[in-house]
Amino acid sequence: MTEPLIPSAETLQALQRRTEREKSARKVAEKLLEQKSLELYSANQALQAAQAELKSQINVVESERDRIKQIAITDSLTKLTTRSAFLENLKAHLLGHALSNAHHSETELWLVVIRLKKFKRVNEQLGQIGADKVLQITAQRLAQFVADKQGEAARFSGTEFAFYCPATKPQLQTYLDQLSHCLSETIAINNRAYIVEFSIAAGGSKLTDNNADTLRTAVDHVLSKVRRSDRNSLMIYDEVERKGSRFRKQLEDEIRISLVNQEFIPWFQPILYSRDARSICLEALARWPKHGGVIRPDQFIPVAHDLGVWPEIDKQLFVTACEQVKPLIDQGSVTDLSVNVSPLQLIMPDFISGLKRLLADTKFPADHLILEITEDVLIEDVATIHSQIQRLHALGIKIAVDDFGTGYSNLKNLIDLPIDTVKIDRSLVMDIERDNRATMLISTLVQWARAINVSVVAEGVETETQAILLRALGCNRLQGYYFGKAMSVKHLKRELPRLLEAAEFRQRA
Ligand code: C2E
Ligand code: CA
Ligand code: CA
Repeated sequence: MTEPLIPSAETLQALQRRTEREKSARKVAEKLLEQKSLELYSANQALQAAQAELKSQINVVESERDRIKQIAITDSLTKLTTRSAFLENLKAHLLGHALSNAHHSETELWLVVIRLKKFKRVNEQLGQIGADKVLQITAQRLAQFVADKQGEAARFSGTEFAFYCPATKPQLQTYLDQLSHCLSETIAINNRAYIVEFSIAAGGSKLTDNNADTLRTAVDHVLSKVRRSDRNSLMIYDEVERKGSRFRKQLEDEIRISLVNQEFIPWFQPILYSRDARSICLEALARWPKHGGVIRPDQFIPVAHDLGVWPEIDKQLFVTACEQVKPLIDQGSVTDLSVNVSPLQLIMPDFISGLKRLLADTKFPADHLILEITEDVLIEDVATIHSQIQRLHALGIKIAVDDFGTGYSNLKNLIDLPIDTVKIDRSLVMDIERDNRATMLISTLVQWARAINVSVVAEGVETETQAILLRALGCNRLQGYYFGKAMSVKHLKRELPRLLEAAEFRQRA
């Protein structure tokens, strides 16, 4: 059957419905498209804004990074290079120097450190602003000096400056003389003329194998030596110093090992009463048995101090001293144990609590302990020292002023402080046999001490004549080689009968 030519009404209706459906579907699609393109447009806009924002943020970050970099490499006060940037540059220069043929020539790379001295005084006299000005002027002088020397200058720390430059040794010597001269010129601040004081230390790349760390250690080594001299002074690391610093390095290693192995020990020097004695006192003195001998404290305490291990060694020594002397105190042959306390320790906030703990651990009776402090501690912070001494007194601990007559303290300070004993220094005692003035001085000191109820120990008594004189002058206790040197506890126990006999004899005499 064939399709009729004219569609039926039904077919037409169906066609119409389909056309309408398609029309409305197209409308929906168009609307959707319109909406989507709107969304796309605004998404595009947002993306562009975000991109712009990101770009500006990147700019901010970059300029901030540059600023920080600049801060990291430039000291804000002096505009010189900072320490860390300087050391990086030095390292690179040393490397370049090592790689070039320079080591065949006489020219080497020098590191020079300049440390301003007595700057605390500048701060006090000129105030912070004035002191900053002094630093700025010094920095300018240094920068000018280094400008034509193919080097770089830096502010190394608060009052330390540094520079490096290539030179032969004689050239460097001339440079340093010129630098000293230019740094010593007067600086005018607030209508006052001021002259900086400084120490200069230099080290060259030759003796330190072009190694930045070795070079810095070398310069540190000479700086610590040159610092001790009081006028403006300079020192160059040389062969002699190289040997010295190697020895020091070895010493440092040995100190660390001996600390772990608890090899530092106290020895005890007897202190005899002038009268009324059936017992003696002891001063604990640090000793370091090494290489078959015994090393004296002045050879290792400063090094241990610099290494930061002295407090630990000191604690070990104190505990051992308390443990060894306690039985002698219990049996009555020893009255007091004297220990040396470094000035800094005394003003540490946790000093007293630490001491209390150690006394409790060792069961050592606090009222049989004397702390020896040197005179110079008394000019530090008198108020803090005063309260610390009072707290120690409250525990029953006594205080002796050591090396009396050598430091800077004035008698007024001493009167104000609740001290128990002064120990007249060996340098005064030494002269009494031949110098009447020394005798008069000791006699005056004894009278003064008596008046304020302070007892007197004479140190460094080496002869019988000195002992008799000092006793006649009224010194309460005597200490020195005449009675005995410092000795180990074993040796002390053997010597004790002889020492007590000597004490008895003094009582009868
Ligand atoms: P110091 O406290 O003045 O100790 C006295 C020093 O003089 C000791 O030297 C002692 O051996 C020495 N001496 C004693 N009698 C005589 C004498 O008749 N003639 C001579 N020529 N010397 C005499 P040492 O043991 O070498 O101690 C030196 C310094 O080291 C001590 O001087 C003290 O300041 C310090 N020291 C020693 N041990 C310690 C310690 O454990 N801690 C602290 N902080 N310092 C200590
Ligand atoms: Ca002492
Ligand atoms: Ca002394």
